[in-house]
Amino acid sequence: MHAITASALTKRYGRTAAVDAVSFAVTPGEIVGFLGPNGAGKTTTLRMLAGLIRPSSGEGRVLGSRVPGPGLREVGTMIEEPSFYPYMTGRDNLRHAALLHGGVEAARIDELLEFVKMDDAARKRVKAYSQGMRQRLALARALLWRPKVLLLDEPTNGLDPVGIAEIRENLRAVAKGGVTILVSSHILGEIEKLVDRILAIEKGRLVFDGPLDRLVARLDASAVRYALRATDGPALLDALRGLGLQPELAGDDGALVDVDLERADDLVRELVHAGVTVTEARRHEDDLEDAYLRLVQADARPS
Ligand code: ATP
Repeated sequence: MHAITASALTKRYGRTAAVDAVSFAVTPGEIVGFLGPNGAGKTTTLRMLAGLIRPSSGEGRVLGSRVPGPGLREVGTMIEEPSFYPYMTGRDNLRHAALLHGGVEAARIDELLEFVKMDDAARKRVKAYSQGMRQRLALARALLWRPKVLLLDEPTNGLDPVGIAEIRENLRAVAKGGVTILVSSHILGEIEKLVDRILAIEKGRLVFDGPLDRLVARLDASAVRYALRATDGPALLDALRGLGLQPELAGDDGALVDVDLERADDLVRELVHAGVTVTEARRHEDDLEDAYLRLVQADARPS
């Protein structure tokens, strides 16, 4: 039995499909990163899986049962801006959530507050919390009833690097306990250290489903970004455009350009042939994120 299944899950708003026939299955205990730029359809997919909105067609299943259904009692969610009662303390907010769900022992609240490093702050009212504190409290709330599945929408949104690392550590510890986690992000770098597998979504469609290392290999092979300099910057740009490329200006005499791997070796020769004096040509220290964005943009282009 899969922990989470999406079968041709679709959500339309008017004529546009925010999520378009997305299918995937997550095995118990997996940590899967749900990656996509803003507006790609991550939140909408997670909302459908959490039973917060109905799909236009297709279905979501959690722990074998169709959503909405009994499986949802075993799910912890953190979707969109966490909402709390602002005039209640963090601890009282957790108590209230525990009461609503039922079956949560009192000691669990202390244990979780300590786990997310909120034991002191839990005495303060939530209205005085920073975004980072709210995110931590939301994670504690999602874990109250020892869920078997966690659906997390950008849980590190708005956090500083220390906060991001702490949430990542928390999630790793939770996953060690066998919890299945589907966690969305629009930044690959934020989840690459946490997940084993990536689902990438772009314009409502799934464009990649596979292990992180395969995504990285595919990104490496997709295109090479070159940083070039020449004695005459404008001539360099003209020559690159003349070769059918789309360079970006980099300083007065430089350019950045994406080239297919097969063509990369010949690029400088082609430029020299076009009369440009190239003074520097090196592969740009391209981070994974840029390459990922180029990949999803290429895949989402209508063919
Ligand atoms: P973000 O990272 O910005 O939250 P996302 O990947 O989570 O992005 P969604 O929030 O799922 O993306 O939105 C996907 C698309 O669906 C967007 O174009 C959005 O404008 C549209 N959309 C989402 N909810 C609604 C709604 N209630 N009515 C109309 N359009 C909507």
